[in-house]
Amino acid sequence: MRRVDSIQKRQKLPKCPICGAEAFVKKNIVDGFYMGWSAGCPRYRIADGIHGVNTLEEAKERGYTVHGAPSKEEAVKRWIIIAKMEEKKYDRRN
Ligand SMILES: [Zn+2]
Repeated sequence: MRRVDSIQKRQKLPKCPICGAEAFVKKNIVDGFYMGWSAGCPRYRIADGIHGVNTLEEAKERGYTVHGAPSKEEAVKRWIIIAKMEEKKYDRRN
């Protein structure tokens, strides 16, 4: 276990592409609201006026938090994909 942890720590979490907050990754409590691992922006909420996600439909398309990943690596991987997609969108706009 310890060996795996040290490998995972080296994986760099990109910051939130929208608000620049340091991203988090955590394991959810089994009987909590979400299962598995979560990663993403700690400030992100639906209709928070920052991330531009105002409905559940929009959240499904582009939420800024990953939920229910089966492992820490998977949660991190999914978050990296979201963060990179947003970066590309901004590149196109600028
Ligand atoms: Zn954010």
